[in-house]
Amino acid sequence: MSDGCVFCRIAARETPADIVYEDDDVVAFKDIYPKAPVHLLIIPRRHIESLARLEPGDAELVGRCVSAARALGESTGYAERGYRLTCNCGPEGGQVVYHLHFHFLAGRR
Ligand code: AMP
Ligand code: ZN
Repeated sequence: MSDGCVFCRIAARETPADIVYEDDDVVAFKDIYPKAPVHLLIIPRRHIESLARLEPGDAELVGRCVSAARALGESTGYAERGYRLTCNCGPEGGQVVYHLHFHFLAGRR
């Protein structure tokens, strides 16, 4: 856990969030400022700053995040209609929270 990281605190349930999925490695919760009818954030429990800080051994963890997105597609009912999975990286990529996260967006054309 990284001191002062809001997403680490959410994963540890020290900061409230609307958690919709969790397992040993991954947590998903509702974005506090939704930009689509369904806007979830998928994070690894372990603090990784961004895509730019991934190490070779993190590939499986990233795969688990993507697999969680697939499961969320099913559970939200958007598996067939479709959804968007995005990851902002770094200042010019629009990243604001420096704990790796994937945006799951659905319900907006
Ligand atoms: P990014 O620009 O990719 O770093 O996106 C960060 C996202 O985190 C934004 O969409 C915020 O609305 C969201 N966010 C920030 N703080 C919280 C929080 N405490 N609970 C839920 N979502 C949050
Ligand atoms: Zn963190």
